[in-house]
Amino acid sequence: EIVKSHLDRVDQVEDKVGAFLYVDREESLKSARAFDEKGNKEGLLGGIPVGIKDNISVKGMQNTCASKFLEGYIAPYDATVTTKLKEEGAVILGKLNMDEFAMGSSTEYSAYQLTRNPHDLERVPGGSSGGSAASVAAMEVPLSLGTDTGGSVRQPASFCGILGLKPTYGNISRYGVTAFGSTLDQVGTFARDVKDLALLTTAVSGHDTMDFTTNKRETVNLYEGLNKDIRGKKIAIAKDFLGEGLDEKVRKNLMETIEVLKDLGATVDFIDLNLAHYSLAVYYIVSSAEASSNLARFDGVRYGKRAEDLLDVMDLYAKSRSEGFGPEVKRRIMLGTYVLSAGYYDAYYAKALKVRKLIQEEYSSIFKNYDAIISPTTPTPAFKIGDNKEDILQMYLNDIYTVPVNIAGIPALSMPSGHVDGLPLGLQIMGDYFKEQEILNIAYAVE
Ligand code: GLN
Repeated sequence: EIVKSHLDRVDQVEDKVGAFLYVDREESLKSARAFDEKGNKEGLLGGIPVGIKDNISVKGMQNTCASKFLEGYIAPYDATVTTKLKEEGAVILGKLNMDEFAMGSSTEYSAYQLTRNPHDLERVPGGSSGGSAASVAAMEVPLSLGTDTGGSVRQPASFCGILGLKPTYGNISRYGVTAFGSTLDQVGTFARDVKDLALLTTAVSGHDTMDFTTNKRETVNLYEGLNKDIRGKKIAIAKDFLGEGLDEKVRKNLMETIEVLKDLGATVDFIDLNLAHYSLAVYYIVSSAEASSNLARFDGVRYGKRAEDLLDVMDLYAKSRSEGFGPEVKRRIMLGTYVLSAGYYDAYYAKALKVRKLIQEEYSSIFKNYDAIISPTTPTPAFKIGDNKEDILQMYLNDIYTVPVNIAGIPALSMPSGHVDGLPLGLQIMGDYFKEQEILNIAYAVE
C-alpha cells in the first residue's frame, strides 16, 4: 500500500514536477510484494520507497546521467549503495533527473527535461540532484539519493525545503556511481526530517572493498544516536560567508537561527575562514580537471552514443563526443584539459592542490575549538527557471558556501530554516571528519 500510494502520487504530480526520468511501476510493486511475503520484518528501510539519481547504477534500470551520450544505456550491475538499500528492504521506484553528468546547479542542464521546484513551479529545484530533491519535496518518495561534488545535495535540498546530507569523503562507497570529480564526489541523502535522514544515511554508509577510498571504521547507527541536547556545544559562524552576494533576507534569517541555537544552550562565535574565499576557484580547477579525465571513457566505443558516417577512429571519438555531450559538459572538459596541459599545469592545477591543502588545514584548526560551523546553504532562495541558465558565472556562484566542504572532505547538511517570500531557505551545518552524528544532532535540536 505504501509503494502503491507513492506511485499514485507520482502519477498525479509528475507532469508538473518532472523529477523522474524513469519509473519502474511493475518492479517496485513486485519487490514490495516480495517484502510483504517475507513478513515485513527485515531491514532499516523495509518496504520504503526510495528514488535514485540517474548517475547511480541500479541493475536493469537506465543510468543516463541525464546525458544524450548515455541514452538507452542500462546498468548491468548495482552500485554498492543500491545493494545496501536492497539489503535493507527499500523499494527503488526509479531514476531521478539531474544536470548532465552532475554539472550544474539548477537541473536545467539535463538533456531530457526540466524539473520544477514544488514550492513554485516557475523556479528551479536546484541541482545537480534537482530530481532527487524535488521528488522528496513533492511527496513522490520519502527518501532519495543524490550525489554531491560541490553542493549538489545541499543546494537543491535548500531550494526545495527539505534536508540533504553530504557525508565525510570516504563514508559512502562510490562504486557504481558515475564519476565526476573523484576526490570530491560523495553520495548524499535526502529526507523530510532528521530521523529519516539519519536512517537512510546509516543504511548506505560503510566500508566497501570495491572503493578503496572508503573508510574502514565501523558504521554507527546515526538514527539510534540522535540526541537533542546540544547544551554547551560550540558553534562557529564564518564572517567570510556573510559578505557580498548574500541576500539581506537570508542574512536576517541566519541571525534568527543564531538566537535559536543560543536558546538551546549552544554558544555561537563569529570566526574568520580566510581561505574559503578561494574555494570556488580551487573547485572549478580541480573538479574540471578530474571530470576531463573521468569523462574520457565516453569515447563512442565502450558506452552509449556512437556517431554514424565515420571516416576513422579519431572521427569516431570527435563526432560521438560532439554529438553526445551538452555545452556545460564540453565547457568543463575543455577547462579541465587546459589546466592539466603542459605549460599550465603548475600555474593552475598544481597551485589549486596547494590551496586545497591550506583550506583543509584551516578547517581542521577551527574544528579543534568548535563542534560545528554554520552558514546559509545558498546566498539566495531558488531562482526562476531561465534566469541563470546562460549566465555561467552566476550559476557557479550559487555554490559559494557549499564547495569548501567538498574541498576539505568534511560532512555537512542542509536543513530547512524558514522562508522568504514563500520560498524555503536552508541552514548549512558543517562538522569535522566523521562527525555526522554531531551535525545531525544539532539539526535534530533545531528542527
Ligand atoms: N554545481 C556544482 C557544479 O556544477 C556542483 C555540482 C555537484 O555537486 N555535482 O559543479
